[in-house]
Amino acid sequence: MNKHDIQKEYNDWVKAGEIASKVREFSKTIIKPGVKLIDIADQIELKIKELGAVPAFPVNLSHDSFAAHCTPTSKDETVLNNQLLKVDIGVCYNGAIGDTAYTVDLSGTHAKLVEASKKAVDNALKIIKVGTTLGEIGKVIEDTITSYGFQPIRNLSGHGLDLFKIHTAPTVPNYDTKDSTMLEKGMIIAIEPFATTGGGRIRDTTHAEILMKISDKPIRDVFARKVFEEIKAFEGLPFSRRALAKTFPLPRLNLAIRQLILNGNLQEYPPLQEVNLGMVSQHEHTLLIEDEVIVLTR
Ligand code: MN
Ligand code: MN
Repeated sequence: MNKHDIQKEYNDWVKAGEIASKVREFSKTIIKPGVKLIDIADQIELKIKELGAVPAFPVNLSHDSFAAHCTPTSKDETVLNNQLLKVDIGVCYNGAIGDTAYTVDLSGTHAKLVEASKKAVDNALKIIKVGTTLGEIGKVIEDTITSYGFQPIRNLSGHGLDLFKIHTAPTVPNYDTKDSTMLEKGMIIAIEPFATTGGGRIRDTTHAEILMKISDKPIRDVFARKVFEEIKAFEGLPFSRRALAKTFPLPRLNLAIRQLILNGNLQEYPPLQEVNLGMVSQHEHTLLIEDEVIVLTR
């Protein structure tokens, strides 16, 4: 269970949240039809650095039936036109993390779906305080989303956050799990409901662009070792092949990454797609649970 020494870390968590909100609002000004997805990603990640932080993970720009873990490749040619785009931004400041997401409907046909996940966050915030159970949060999220005629995605959830760790206990469900675990003072959690026109489950797909270091086990190959040294700069946070492709030529980079995965150094995060190819919306805020709950990414 994550409980923080808030006296010591407080300013960093507030700052991470503030930067995440600023970057989120900035991203709204650049996302429009006709713009290349890779330019959006580059500008968002650059803005995080300009504001004195680093990405806590590669910005997730997941379209239509993809719920999460899509980020452009270094060769991505996608141009925005009528996508339902989830924008999930993570900011890391001195290890503290701000995690926030929203959905843009460029098609103009999914307003209700977008509203459903947004309202689910709003309604969850109304009941969240010290002592609220995880099951109660899940129930509010589920009831809100189903009241719109959609399904929450049950195998995606909110989570605790810790220094340099995006996902820690507790798991904050998006449906009524009856979990009686209570929120405690000092916890930092992200709530992130997903609403879908499909059945409400996601599955892994292939071609992971997002990776994370899981072991420091030595690697024999000289080039793979060079790539791994560069990867250590991400301090254990997820990163993209796109970021490394600024330093290494792509074919050799992908070979090195393959070796590092086989050697047990890296884990892949493939794009997550709704099983019925239903459209998906998402909203997310990071909160500090104190006597007064603080929405860090407001
Ligand atoms: Mn997120
Ligand atoms: Mn999250």
